[in-house]
Amino acid sequence: MAGTGVFADILDGEVYKYYADGEWRASGSGKSVAIVNPTTRQTQYRVQACTQEEVNKVMEGAKVAQKAWARTPLWKRAELLHKAAAILKEHKAPIAECLVKEIAKPAKDAVTEVVRSGDLVSYTAEEGVRILGEGKLLVSDSFPGNERNKYCLSSKVPLGIVLAIPPFNYPVNLAVSKIGPALIAGNALVLKPPTQGAVAALHMVHCFHLAGFPKGLISCVTGKGSEIGDFLTMHPGVNCISFTGGDTGIAISKKAGMVPLQMELGGKDACIVLEDADLDLVAANIVKGGFSYSGQRCTAVKVVLIMETVADTVVEKVNAKLAKLKVGPPEDNCDITPVVTESSANFIEGLVMDAKEKGATFCQEYRREGNLIWPLLLDHVRPDMRIAWEEPFGPVLPVIRINSVEEGIHHCNASNFGLQGCVFTRDINKAIMISDAMESGTVQINSAPARGPDHFPFQGLKDSGIGSQGITNSINMMTKVKSTVINLPSPSYTMG
Ligand code: NAP
Repeated sequence: MAGTGVFADILDGEVYKYYADGEWRASGSGKSVAIVNPTTRQTQYRVQACTQEEVNKVMEGAKVAQKAWARTPLWKRAELLHKAAAILKEHKAPIAECLVKEIAKPAKDAVTEVVRSGDLVSYTAEEGVRILGEGKLLVSDSFPGNERNKYCLSSKVPLGIVLAIPPFNYPVNLAVSKIGPALIAGNALVLKPPTQGAVAALHMVHCFHLAGFPKGLISCVTGKGSEIGDFLTMHPGVNCISFTGGDTGIAISKKAGMVPLQMELGGKDACIVLEDADLDLVAANIVKGGFSYSGQRCTAVKVVLIMETVADTVVEKVNAKLAKLKVGPPEDNCDITPVVTESSANFIEGLVMDAKEKGATFCQEYRREGNLIWPLLLDHVRPDMRIAWEEPFGPVLPVIRINSVEEGIHHCNASNFGLQGCVFTRDINKAIMISDAMESGTVQINSAPARGPDHFPFQGLKDSGIGSQGITNSINMMTKVKSTVINLPSPSYTMG
């Protein structure tokens, strides 16, 4: 059970502690932040509201710890990460329990998130050993005008302190996707978890504590992003920011100093369906892609762009599947569970009502109880409706009927987002042409968008992000290249 057994240390009465200098502490602020259970709409947990002074202390400790960590052999860093991964998997049940209570993740998916996170940490350790164990040797005589009298040795070195800020929807997985690469590369890591999901993240951090990482190397400060976020992201001690979330990331990018940024932001992933597609496959992927975790996934299908000639058939098949989805609490493993907050539910409702006023066809009756919204397919959506462009992050999906592939590509590229997209066709040549034309970080052919497997490159164009994720890219991003040039007194030629 959460906060008990090996996790008893992380709880102080009713409030979960924050993690600094290798120990669990109560904040001197005397204030806490409530985490409201999306299903019951009652306070489920409380976390510390950390102060700026506490953040300063964390940064000081991280700086000292990082220097020693960078001198720790790579194989030892990997060994500790493997240990943390095993502990994380061993304690999947209490962590998953937090995910169910804090973010209404269906119980089975909550367990999957923790196990996937353990696998991600192990893979990161292995990948780090492989790619950080290699450097480069360059010789000077390839550049015009040079003799071969300079040897350049380059390798990858850590950046310093990485600030990690994940979103609510995968608070464990999207935290370890930053923690693992940062640590294997020799950095210290400061985590600011999302408020909804903070307690799951604190349990996950405790697994790293139990693995025996040096004190100060990993810290976790809690508090509302709106209160403590700017202080963290503009802190002079931070050498890299890895952020996943919504528009907040755009604001952070404008405020952050001269540090590398990894931004994984929102999306409006389009699903383009051609006439020759396997329509059963299309319907299955629209339902899985659009409605899993109630549509609260960055890579959810968020708009269907379908050729008019096959639209009726696909809409009918999707509706038949939607009728079978189980709607209810996450504890019962329902397919559709309450969305994360009341304000999210209100936002989704706003998009739905705007579409209704402007004449969209509702394939189901719109139904909401508290934060629980029943799955809804909106047909005949037009570009003047907000839902054609905005990210609902809920179980409501617009269908726009198109008369040409070009029309679909045009809609996709007119979006300010460019995370992923997908195209369904049996013609691989057409699929490649469409993929090339779509301004999205990734295009899936004949499957719904997805983040993963976790070692695949993952990136957003335009307002969807900066840089590329995926295990290898994240490790590379959290390092910089350092060169040493050996200057010989006279040119030296191999076998010369
Ligand atoms: P969000 O509101 O942007 O919050 C993300 C994180 O930022 C949270 O930890 C939040 O903390 C923190 N935060 C808030 N204000 C801040 C500030 N001023 N400075 C620094 N941090 C601040 O996003 P969300 O609602 O959690 O997640 C949903 C969004 O994430 C969607 O747009 C989705 O598409 C996107 N997402 C993208 C990806 C991707 O890989 N591209 C993956 C998953 C989700 P608090 O919780 O305390 O406010």
